[in-house]
Amino acid sequence: MTETQHHEVVVIGAGVSGIYQIKRLIDLGIDAMLFEADEDLGGTWYRNRYPGARFDSESYTYGYSFSQEVLDEWHWKERFSPQPENLRYLNFVADKFHLRRHMRFNARVDAMVWDEIARLWHLTLQSGETVTARFVISCIGVLSIPTLPRYEGIDDFEGDAFHTYWWPKEPVPLAGRRVGVVGTGATGIQVIAEIADKVGELTVFQRRPNWSTPLNNAPISEAEMAAIRARYDEIFANCAESPGGFEHVPDRRGFWSLTPEERVAFWDELYERPGFAILQSNFVEIFADEAANREFSEYIAGRIRERVKDPEVAEKLIPKDHGFGTQRLPLETNYFEAYNRDNVHLVDVTETPIERITRTGIQTTDAHYELDLIVFATGFNAITGAFDHMEIRGTGGRVLGEKWRDGPSTWLGVLTHGFPNLLMVAGPQSVSGSTNFPRAIEGGVNWVTGLLEHALEHGYTRIEADKQAEQEWVEEVIRAHERILLRRSQGWFTGYNSNVEGHEAGKVRYQAYFGTAPKYAAKLEAEATAGYPQVDFR
Ligand code: NAP
Repeated sequence: MTETQHHEVVVIGAGVSGIYQIKRLIDLGIDAMLFEADEDLGGTWYRNRYPGARFDSESYTYGYSFSQEVLDEWHWKERFSPQPENLRYLNFVADKFHLRRHMRFNARVDAMVWDEIARLWHLTLQSGETVTARFVISCIGVLSIPTLPRYEGIDDFEGDAFHTYWWPKEPVPLAGRRVGVVGTGATGIQVIAEIADKVGELTVFQRRPNWSTPLNNAPISEAEMAAIRARYDEIFANCAESPGGFEHVPDRRGFWSLTPEERVAFWDELYERPGFAILQSNFVEIFADEAANREFSEYIAGRIRERVKDPEVAEKLIPKDHGFGTQRLPLETNYFEAYNRDNVHLVDVTETPIERITRTGIQTTDAHYELDLIVFATGFNAITGAFDHMEIRGTGGRVLGEKWRDGPSTWLGVLTHGFPNLLMVAGPQSVSGSTNFPRAIEGGVNWVTGLLEHALEHGYTRIEADKQAEQEWVEEVIRAHERILLRRSQGWFTGYNSNVEGHEAGKVRYQAYFGTAPKYAAKLEAEATAGYPQVDFR
């Protein structure tokens, strides 16, 4: 038996949030240690190595804003930077501030049990090692638990098969191979477009199509990067003011005050703009007014029909069950054109469902597809999945997964009653899942750090959200959700994932706050300024 280590603060997870969180704690001279399950840092950008993985936030709005040195030194080479570069960036930041010495890798936290008498968390690592901490800060990500379909025979397949999250580090041969991709979310769309011209045959197994629009990526030259650097203060200020945490700002001229021709002219221009402009710089009505949403969805359907040569295939790629922007929008580069290639085939598994995976491929109700490689781009147990993955026991031995069985309940996405001294960065019901992630988590880390400093300065050893305040926040989360058309869609924003029991269609889990990033930031700031009246300090 090894001795139980103790730290004032334990941070879990060395992704985008954990890296910044541990830096803030170390800078304050707090005794803190970070535990990471993987063998190295990077989180999302360490894991998702599949071909085509890249930002869909403008790179210079995705990077950290906290260090002038980092801003001055780092050159983003593309408007939407690819995974290898993003991982290099996170390593560059961690190494610059010597953060690795405060991180332990291959250190998965399996369980956390709250000790009310000692006011400590007792953590058990997968290795069996035990650690105590006064405070635990979870930086465990919103999309870190990949989910595989529950198909019969999934282990029988004798070729290569993996979830995109587990795409191997070693190069995966593609040339001449028969590849099947299951899933057409943001990940599937990136993979399909990237590998279509590199494989022998590509068969896409699509259940529900997604709306998708051009990423419009481009290189960033030295001169352009210099101009971006000169504008960083303005860029971050713009992001802080926009609903989604981007530089894109909504159009408030009024959908119905323009003629249909004027609207189309505007959309033609938006279609050429980079990233989420088409979503976030569009008319605000599109996301709340069904008629406006229908008209715009029809415009995008027209774009798909223009780009896909076979009209039958085009129709299959156009969503009929939800309007544009009511699920998380995937962005694409030549995705629709991939279906014009002779070696790319679309199988609609709503029409001909997958029956089972066989030793040599995929059997649908209609045919058997012989494959050498199956790529499962089948999504994540989003937002609460990483919490369910640990056994977290709070006051009275209550398990967090039980409290959140029908959906999470938090105060501002930061604390949850009954689980004292557990502080969440990118927690459920914050804006981290619903807006530009790094912008949201920088605010989240700073706020959590402020709360912790307040407790330490006053000698408090126990922090817990007020139960009533938590209930009021959940109601606010539901109100914001109900105001937008997204309320009726099936996607991970609303907790839908057919591969996870209890997360099936028709049951909304209010997992993310849709009341805009500035509104959320203002609420956090007001709480801190008022001295955290809704937190019970002891
Ligand atoms: P996702 O959006 O949840 O998509 C999963 C896909 O797999 C859906 O098309 C789903 O179909 C399909 N699927 C799941 N289970 C299936 C089954 N049993 N049989 C057939 N099809 C099945 O997951 P994702 O594409 O990994 O994206 C998740 C999120 O990650 C994105 O929304 C985004 O926030 C983030 N992401 C970001 C980027 C980026 O550019 N930065 C790139 C990729 C991902 P149904 O819709 O019918 O369930």
